[in-house]
Amino acid sequence: MFNCRRLVLARKRRKLTAKRLAEYAKVSAVTITRLEKGENQPEESTIRRLADALNYPIEFFLRDDPEPININSVSFRSLTKMTARERDAAITAGSLGIELNGWIEERFSLPIVKLLDLSYETDTEAAAQHLRQHWALGERPIRSIVRLLEAHGVRVFALSEDTATVDAFSFWKNDKPYVFLNHFKTAERSIYDAAHELGHLVLHKHAGPIPSRPAEREADSFASAFLMPRNDVRSRVPSKISIDVILELKLRWRVSAMALAYRLHALEMLTDWQYKSICIELGKRGFRSGEPGGIEREESVVWRKIFSQLWSEKTTKSDVAEALNIPLDELEGIVGLSRSNRARERFNLHAVK
Ligand SMILES: [Zn+2]
Repeated sequence: MFNCRRLVLARKRRKLTAKRLAEYAKVSAVTITRLEKGENQPEESTIRRLADALNYPIEFFLRDDPEPININSVSFRSLTKMTARERDAAITAGSLGIELNGWIEERFSLPIVKLLDLSYETDTEAAAQHLRQHWALGERPIRSIVRLLEAHGVRVFALSEDTATVDAFSFWKNDKPYVFLNHFKTAERSIYDAAHELGHLVLHKHAGPIPSRPAEREADSFASAFLMPRNDVRSRVPSKISIDVILELKLRWRVSAMALAYRLHALEMLTDWQYKSICIELGKRGFRSGEPGGIEREESVVWRKIFSQLWSEKTTKSDVAEALNIPLDELEGIVGLSRSNRARERFNLHAVK
């Protein structure tokens, strides 16, 4: 049986309107609408044309319903800048992530979930401290937030959308926390996004539809406090704060220069006037849109281990994609294997031999 929900999923993943898909598949727009509503069962030849147009295997459309993600439980920061199509494409990556996670969990035991429910906590600074205590982090800087999340059971995926307007997002599904990070952004911003999403996972688990702005502010202030613990910042940052101090110390907490300046202002270590002039100067030096001399992007340890284990059993990524009936590019996209990673991976395989 043709599954109409899967047609919607694949179309949204490919960022196509129903009209455009109709053109590509050489069917009428009404046909697409009817198929998506489940009013018609398509002919085999139509399924083939749709599959070709979407570059998805035919079998994908014959599977059970995909795992739905409640659109209200997903929060995006720059919602205003993002188009509905970009948002839908990102969210549908979430459905693929859930399916991949299910396949992986049948074969591997992933780290158990050790997140706290801090939704009762109204003070985000206290919430960040509480989670740090729970994870025995003390006041130390975090060496890799991706590894930290993975070690505590968060399923970390990538958003390979080539747009910086889709930040990152997170959600709970069947008591498993999921985080999707955009690899298009600088490493520092991606780290901040990961901490921001962690904030949503612990602060807003039961919140249902998230009323955007306050929740976003809470997640931001959680991220700031979690990455740059108050006492550590106070003891490390000298009383006279120059741009050079910021550029040097941002490396300690692996944050962007802007994020550190923001934190210093929030901790009242910078006056409004100082903060403003530092922001202007950072902007002039290119720190508003990027991170000159930035750190290297963090990588998932879990995915690397899983794929090297699978490889040792002669299971390739293509085999995994085939088992899930998804195109290889989708699989590689959500596990965050960019071209450079792939090249490195090949190199590692050679080195092992
Ligand atoms: Zn958010």
